[in-house]
Amino acid sequence: MIVLLLGAPGAGKGTHAARIADHTGLPHISSGELLRGAVERKTELGLKAKEHMDAGNLVPDEFMLRWIEELLDDPAYASGIILDGFPRTIPQAEGLDKLLAEKGLSTDLVLLLDISQDAAADRLLSRVTCGKCGAIHNLAQKPMKVPGICDACGGELETRADDVRETIEKRFGEFRKQTEPMIEYYRSRGNFETINTDRPVEVVRKDVQDLLDRISAATSSGSATG
Ligand code: AMP
Repeated sequence: MIVLLLGAPGAGKGTHAARIADHTGLPHISSGELLRGAVERKTELGLKAKEHMDAGNLVPDEFMLRWIEELLDDPAYASGIILDGFPRTIPQAEGLDKLLAEKGLSTDLVLLLDISQDAAADRLLSRVTCGKCGAIHNLAQKPMKVPGICDACGGELETRADDVRETIEKRFGEFRKQTEPMIEYYRSRGNFETINTDRPVEVVRKDVQDLLDRISAATSSGSATG
């Protein structure tokens, strides 16, 4: 099963992708997280991506397309994948379609997490990530028991370098210019679902769960009837 999670920065892609991964058992790949890892390790991709990421711009398509091609060749993802944050432009979506078609695959679910820009910006400004377990917390919604320490594992909490107001504005600009037209590309095809994430995370979580249950039921009744 190939699942794509689309949405503006702060829409909750990371949070809900992790939950969909738990539910389906599929591996969750976040392009942003992998790029941040590459920047930290100073790999060739990381060195090329860093200046774009720091500025709040998208990393050029040619690098991202090379990255996804290598990723999809990895047998670890042969049974499916949840892609969070990729694709983000029409050329990336077209490139992904082509690579999947070459493997006899196609996207099974494209899920748009929809949120207003104001709500997303508020979330980004109060978001922290655990450096140890990777959990994403929102301090405005739920302060930690010990400030600066992850409630889940005791690790230290970090704020992403690009979660500052000026860079957030740039990231939204990229979203409007490059990603919104791509969303229309997917919307006009099948398997497209939208969930409004401008609501408490537990309410959204339930909607995501209901959607997955509906898809599982449809898939199993489809296979039962042949
Ligand atoms: P994210 O963690 O998804 O917010 O991504 C952080 C940053 O990584 C983005 O602002 C971009 O600079 C870069 N990035 C992540 N995914 C992509 C992508 N599919 N295409 C281009 N740049 C990306």
